[in-house]
Amino acid sequence: MTSDIHFRGPNILICGTPGTGKTTLSKEVAQETCLNYISIGDLAKENNFYCNYDSELQSYELDEDKVIDEIDDIMKEGGNLIDYHGCDFFPERWFDVVFVLRTDNTTLYERLEKRDYSEKKIQENVQAEIFQVLLDEALDSYKPEIVFELQSNTPEDMDENLNKIKNWIQQWKIENKS
Ligand code: ADP
Ligand code: MN
Repeated sequence: MTSDIHFRGPNILICGTPGTGKTTLSKEVAQETCLNYISIGDLAKENNFYCNYDSELQSYELDEDKVIDEIDDIMKEGGNLIDYHGCDFFPERWFDVVFVLRTDNTTLYERLEKRDYSEKKIQENVQAEIFQVLLDEALDSYKPEIVFELQSNTPEDMDENLNKIKNWIQQWKIENKS
């Protein structure tokens, strides 16, 4: 064996602007596959992996190095599904595929209104989605051929995305004979 990476399966990243449906979709994928679901947001909360408080954004900055240290060994084993909005600070070697969820602005606005976000924070997120900030971040951080954009507006989209990801995993398993 040349590498211990991917012993248990592929590592998948699901990223995208808050409200695009990452957590909902990730949990469905994890339920229907043998992937190990990891929410970076929850991991940070549980371990207090934060550094500076950004008063303008009303949130703590993620301590990215601590996150990487915490799960690097698990990621080396493979078979993980990561849920996080951003993607540029993870080691590129971690992921076999990156799915970027996309949502139309009015739909996204309505979803974020249901959260206790300030109007400013809603606007910032909707703007980021309009300018495809996360998609560009993914394309800048990973080989473009492993980055896939998925529309996430309706429950039908959700089903379709679930199937696309399951199919991708099947294909990966055939190609990697695991
Ligand atoms: P994220 O984790 O990206 O912030 P969530 O998974 O928490 O997003 O989803 C935000 C809200 O939008 C939830 O109420 C969820 O049910 C809804 N939602 C997510 N994806 C879809 C979709 N494809 N169609 C309809 N509603 C969706
Ligand atoms: Mn989420």
